[in-house]
Amino acid sequence: MAAQEQTDVTIVGAGIVGICCALSLLEKGKTVRLVDKDAPGQGASCGNAGVVSPWSCIPQSVPGLWKKIPGWLLDPEGPVAIRPGYLPKALPWALRFLKSGSAKELPAIARAMAELNRPNVDIYRRHLAGTGHEHLLRDSCYLHIYRDASAADLHDLTWKLRAEHGAPLELLNGDELREIEPCLSTDYKAAVLIKDQARAMAPGRIGTVLADKARALGGAFVQAHVHELRPDEDGWSIMTDKGDFHSPQVVAAAGAWSMRLLAPLGVRVPLEAERGYHVLFRDPGVSLNNSIMEVDAKFVSSSMEMGLRSAGTAEFAGLDAPPNYRRARMLVRQTKRMLPDLNTENTEEWMGARPSLPDSLPCIDEVPGQAGLFTAFGHGHYGLGMAPMTGRIIADLVTQTVPNIDLAPYSSARF
Ligand SMILES: Cc1cc2nc3c(=O)[nH]c(=O)nc-3n(C[C@H](O)[C@H](O)[C@H](O)COP(=O)(O)OP(=O)(O)OC[C@H]3O[C@@H](n4cnc5c(N)ncnc54)[C@H](O)[C@@H]3O)c2cc1C
Repeated sequence: MAAQEQTDVTIVGAGIVGICCALSLLEKGKTVRLVDKDAPGQGASCGNAGVVSPWSCIPQSVPGLWKKIPGWLLDPEGPVAIRPGYLPKALPWALRFLKSGSAKELPAIARAMAELNRPNVDIYRRHLAGTGHEHLLRDSCYLHIYRDASAADLHDLTWKLRAEHGAPLELLNGDELREIEPCLSTDYKAAVLIKDQARAMAPGRIGTVLADKARALGGAFVQAHVHELRPDEDGWSIMTDKGDFHSPQVVAAAGAWSMRLLAPLGVRVPLEAERGYHVLFRDPGVSLNNSIMEVDAKFVSSSMEMGLRSAGTAEFAGLDAPPNYRRARMLVRQTKRMLPDLNTENTEEWMGARPSLPDSLPCIDEVPGQAGLFTAFGHGHYGLGMAPMTGRIIADLVTQTVPNIDLAPYSSARF
């Protein structure tokens, strides 16, 4: 344990968001203590699909989505599942989620997402520079693949919105698609190609490498469970199972667990654990050159250092329910249909909780009425991509620099 005596900022949560906050704060000359119950870069941050897209600006809730949800819930292989008994708890969140997907709210949400994602590849490259692990982020395209060619329509609302935010898009037919990705099934008749983005070759390792960099820059890491944040005379007490710490400022970056620390302080934010699964094919026998989104089944596949990973599905069951690995085995079957030559022996299953807010935007602010308490959580489906800019904003807020963007969409008081 390397806790410093005098530390300006304690960050609770060493997922990719907390780690990026630490790096940006260290760049600004602040002393930093990262606290996590687990090793750095675990949680949702190690099991994701690895997509890092500067063009990501489409929230999960979009106009017309509600029509698809009943079918998804009834289909055992559908992309959304609610554990029996959890529906009453999930319902208020679900209603807010559907409301945020109105045509009226969409443009502002898209703008706020775009602001957070635009510089992500550049900032990651800067963070990784000099670590010897620069290869963990690879230039990539993002292919959204369709069985029904007529469904790949660049005039569709969401594609138009992406284009408005600068995304370089190209429509491909089936043959053009297989020139780029020869292993895909011939069932796919069209694709939309998003260019100029990146993918993580091992999302968890990016976290550990960047946490090591934070330590090399003087940051401390403490492996401890934080059970309470308490305001004191000159800042915050951070009460943990390994003893208590103090710092003038504290950042809540505890992902899906964040409200366990903030609710007792009167913060009211509808944070839901949107549980996702992945399956890793350790010996896939095929490989992909880009990130691939299977549009109908809504999962993403990508070749990584460890093998080929398919990640997706949204399960609502609360933070503490045990995993239902049938959701991961469903991804095995779906990926095999997409990649007919895939070897499905030697797989590994994983479950993790996306910290999801109904409008697909995170909370990034200093909590009103709680000086020195900052939020950096709620990044939902997009946290790998949004983490670098979140770190920059937090570093600005902590050092009382006015960030160059409108922060109102990320206020923890917006709900
Ligand atoms: C299947 C799946 C696929 C995804 N694909 C993508 C993708 O392709 N691109 C993308 O941008 N995003 C993706 N995401 C989303 C992304 O992974 C998350 O938004 C992101 O990892 C959230 O990071 P975080 O640091 O906020 O949370 P986490 O990584 O969960 O970190 C939170 C940390 O807080 C710690 N913690 C919590 N409570 C306490 C406590 N009381 N005391 C001490 N420590 C505590 C936890 O141990 C954990 O390490 C995906 C997510 C899933 C599940």
